[in-house]
Amino acid sequence: MSEFLAAIPFYPALYASSREDEQIDMLVLHYTDGPSLDECVAIFRDPDRRVSCHYIVGLDGTLLQMVRDEDCAWHCGTSSWRGREGCNRRSLGIEIVNWGRLKKENGSFFCWPEDFSTPYGGPSPIAAEGDWWTPYPAGQVEQVVSLSGHLVERYKIPLDNVVRHSDIAPDRKIDPGPAFPWVEFKASMAGVIAGRW
Ligand SMILES: [Zn+2]
Repeated sequence: MSEFLAAIPFYPALYASSREDEQIDMLVLHYTDGPSLDECVAIFRDPDRRVSCHYIVGLDGTLLQMVRDEDCAWHCGTSSWRGREGCNRRSLGIEIVNWGRLKKENGSFFCWPEDFSTPYGGPSPIAAEGDWWTPYPAGQVEQVVSLSGHLVERYKIPLDNVVRHSDIAPDRKIDPGPAFPWVEFKASMAGVIAGRW
């Protein structure tokens, strides 16, 4: 394991299960739909939510692991990719702290809790695809690139299997959304792979 991965602190989520002999060959990016790393940790420690993910990247780039790579985290839900149903057992998941889609009303922005009546107090939203979105700080994106690069390298994940939650559950999910620099991110992963696998 790289020193980068070995240095990430671990705090266990409540829910994880066996990969049942499936090999890791996918990486899935998410946003948290929430304000902070602590809030995401609380969700993954909530017995009623029954969700989890391997890694979280905070707004300031702080990294935390909550499910071991060798275990299956509960982050994809109903999903399919390239003709195979269910992506949890074969994937690693990264949650990126981000409020996601915002609503603009009377000149003010709101985030989704309480049906988009919760005032938004984060960095200036950006417009894309007919909606408003929370920007990803550059330092946070850098950490997502670094973490993903180390994981892609370690598990020899094919570039085509580096995906967004919205790619594998397009009817249900929109994360990580258009504010995430997906094209640049994929180019970085292509650089890591460099035709080696
Ligand atoms: Zn997601």
